[in-house]
Amino acid sequence: MAGVGKRVSAESAAMSKPLPTRNNPALHGRWTVDESAQVYGLNDWGKGYFGVNAAGNLQVQPTRDPARAIDLRELVDGLRERDIGTPVLVRFPDLTRQRLQDLYDAFATAIEDNEYAGRYRCVYPIKVNQQRFVCEEIRDLGGRFGFGLEAGSKPELLAVLGMTVGHNELPIVCNGFKDREYIAAVVLATKLGRNIIPVVERFRDLELIVEEAERLGVRPQIGLRIKPAARGAGKWSASAGIRSKFGLSASYVLRALAFLQERGMADCLEMLHFHIGSQLSDIRRLKSAITELAYFYAELSRRGAGLNTIDIGGGLGVDYDGSQTSCESSMNYTVAEYASDVVYRIKSACDDAGVPHPTIFSESGRAIVAYSTALIFDVLGTAEIEAIADVASIRAALEARPEDDQPQPIHDLLLAHDSLTDRTMVEAFHDAVQARDEAMSLFTLGYIDLEMRAAAETLFWCVCRNVLERGRKRRELPEELEDLIEAMADIYYCNFSVFQSMPDSWAIKQLFPIMPIHRLGEQPTRLGTLADITCDSDGKVASFVDRRDDKHVLELHELREDESYYLGAFLIGAYQEILGDLHNLFGDTHVVHVGLENGGWVIREVLRGDTVKEVLGYVGYNTDELVRALRQDVERAVSTKTLAVGEGRSLLGSYLSGMAGYTYLQ
Ligand code: PLP
Repeated sequence: MAGVGKRVSAESAAMSKPLPTRNNPALHGRWTVDESAQVYGLNDWGKGYFGVNAAGNLQVQPTRDPARAIDLRELVDGLRERDIGTPVLVRFPDLTRQRLQDLYDAFATAIEDNEYAGRYRCVYPIKVNQQRFVCEEIRDLGGRFGFGLEAGSKPELLAVLGMTVGHNELPIVCNGFKDREYIAAVVLATKLGRNIIPVVERFRDLELIVEEAERLGVRPQIGLRIKPAARGAGKWSASAGIRSKFGLSASYVLRALAFLQERGMADCLEMLHFHIGSQLSDIRRLKSAITELAYFYAELSRRGAGLNTIDIGGGLGVDYDGSQTSCESSMNYTVAEYASDVVYRIKSACDDAGVPHPTIFSESGRAIVAYSTALIFDVLGTAEIEAIADVASIRAALEARPEDDQPQPIHDLLLAHDSLTDRTMVEAFHDAVQARDEAMSLFTLGYIDLEMRAAAETLFWCVCRNVLERGRKRRELPEELEDLIEAMADIYYCNFSVFQSMPDSWAIKQLFPIMPIHRLGEQPTRLGTLADITCDSDGKVASFVDRRDDKHVLELHELREDESYYLGAFLIGAYQEILGDLHNLFGDTHVVHVGLENGGWVIREVLRGDTVKEVLGYVGYNTDELVRALRQDVERAVSTKTLAVGEGRSLLGSYLSGMAGYTYLQ
């Protein structure tokens, strides 16, 4: 996705790129927190919900007011005092509330500006984050704006039905595959007084709804999902279009209306729905799809359907990389623009056709919950490339050999090293690459020994380091040498699992903002990539948000003795929790809910992460059996004197406490 739709022009991208800050003398001096904010693009992706305070700590500002903030470093220390370590998932309910308010306000303004006669309601699709606390918050906070919930499966429907007891006014939209049981539950919920709309995704759904409604004596509210020709853009564009998985084509839509008319139920067809894909990055796609949907609506209304609602599905994006462009991790519009376009397009089509303005539903999920969850994790250590060598000793060792045992590639590497200047650095780099490759081939063929191979590797990295240092001093690096930055980056080993906490980063290369949560008053002097603690080489993060283009290294601080270094991954509240898996048996992390209260913050909820015993249980182990088996083995070893009694006790003790402990490193 490099550069797609980003502000950097093709011309400027082709030019050499200014180097990141590592050891950049031009940027030494007093480093400010504003410079840190700039390095990490905080004001771009943070949208005012995140800021850096004078102590150099990252803070969450749920209401965008820097004076009402949660200092993340302070929070992590507070959690440690309560024996809750990292990694920890932190949810900020006040930020969810703010997102709901922002969405409501954007549509209220658009409705007023366009003199629109209908109202707007969001139905939160619980699949985006089904956690009970999240859904209940949205039910309670969103309920004040008339917002509701969307279920996309039978289990989700059952959760929603239980969750909305006493909330009959909330709209409930039911999507997804439906069998008779699912539909019977919806029809009975109507009898119970719920404001519930099953959406017909296949013609068979309609037949079942009508059969169950007749059997149970209910007049249901029915929604139809159409297949718009217009598609979204990006990863989820296949959610719409003529060949999409869900929805009715135009001819089936007409058949559906006729089917209902024949049974005197045309008035039950109350809602038209579509979903053109999640994370809509380009507003133009939405505009044409909305117009298409609105014309379906107008025409079906004129043909006698009892329509009163248009559901525009999900798709409202999140600007993960802060670039405000149409690239996949961003969006080239604001929430206000989204609302304005939706309202204006629907109004125009309805006015043209002379039909009343419908209520507008959106199934916005990502846009509501993404911001309100962050993962905080600690760095366990780093690995750096060995790029400092005693060149004189290598030279001496080479020259001490008989002439016919002095490999030519090592001479070439020494020459590249010695002849390197600002002017010749590209040439010297090319020579070094060639000599290094030749040395590796000669080693594989058995012509050079391990000592000379090691010399080749070391000299090669020395040349690379020298090239990078020169680039840094000049503040630019020729484009063809840019990959060197990544190749020479440090690896920061981090106490989390990508597969559990940010699965989309691995599965679909989704970018999430990641940055230190403290030491932001200090210049980050290292460049690194992140590796998680799974034993999988895919368990890493090597793409980071950047306004110009995604970058492959992150600016980080040097680790200090006896001081933890914490990083945060942000905007992970949508989809990540439920998609996360148990790779390497790393389970759910601790979760805490933190709210604003009395001019400070307060921990409202603590959910302990999985213990080793729990995750072993998920995959079918009986841990009592495991302990019994180990105990017997220890006794056997003690009786044969291969283990002392004390050693056996110590092994069993750590086995038992490991079982009861967190799955992450403590
Ligand atoms: N509605 C439907 C039918 C969906 O399939 C989805 C997700 O793909 C959504 C709503 C939520 O979309 P988003 O999270 O992009 O708002």
